[in-house]
Amino acid sequence: MFCIGCHLSSSAGFLAMGETALKLGATTFQFFTRNPRGSRAKAIDPDDAAAFLALKEAHGLGTLVAHAPYTINPCSKDERTREFALETMADDLRRMEYLPGNCYNFHPGSHTGQGTERGIALIADTLNAILTEDQHTTVLLETMTGKGTEIGGRFEELREILDRVTLSHRMGVCLDTCHVSDAGYDIAADTDGVLAEFDKVIGLTRLKAVHLNDSLNGVGERKDRHARIGEGTLGREAFGRIINHPALRDLPFVLETPNELPGYAAEIALLKEMRR
Ligand code: FE
Ligand code: FE
Ligand code: ZN
Repeated sequence: MFCIGCHLSSSAGFLAMGETALKLGATTFQFFTRNPRGSRAKAIDPDDAAAFLALKEAHGLGTLVAHAPYTINPCSKDERTREFALETMADDLRRMEYLPGNCYNFHPGSHTGQGTERGIALIADTLNAILTEDQHTTVLLETMTGKGTEIGGRFEELREILDRVTLSHRMGVCLDTCHVSDAGYDIAADTDGVLAEFDKVIGLTRLKAVHLNDSLNGVGERKDRHARIGEGTLGREAFGRIINHPALRDLPFVLETPNELPGYAAEIALLKEMRR
């Protein structure tokens, strides 16, 4: 199955998101676990979760990607900020148990001047405090651009985090095509080479999801500005190679492109046409 979808607003609940996804022609979707700025989460409505799971089953929707608020920072130099990240992520993982078997993706964080090594250690500490042997969610580190003091712009940094996590079999990586290009990996011109490098450093078995975004910036520019598929520097052909690549084709693909719902529907249709 081609598992393709887009980021949806979660305000209306899981069943509504599932219905929207189906209308868009999607077979998966991504959603924020709470307000993206990281405020209090609404309690999960068990009936809504159950109704969604029935819809997912009936229509054969694939693995979902939940996204942590992007403002949390588990490796800040400020202890309160780190505690808030830990509490938010632990709460999100408890809530994800209403939808067992899916993914929870987060931005590793920014070391805010403490250095990469210290940042990596703090991220691993957070994960070691929140992961449990009996959870049913795979926690994903997202590949980042490496702008500012951001951790995760180098595959080696993600590998080091995974190496320090005790329950690392509960973890994986989400590859963001815009971010890796911004970070200096030329995934558009050298798709095979970048995936070979990912395999060498992290291991392709760790790769659990892909964010499909074109980029407004050139390779290595570290600005993180997403573009619609085919309207950026990666270009339409690159996405044909990416969605059909043997190492990627069975993963969930999520669009985070600047689109309203009709734009997403058009991109999903385009990608379905490009799928072999
Ligand atoms: Fe993200
Ligand atoms: Fe992303
Ligand atoms: Zn981004």
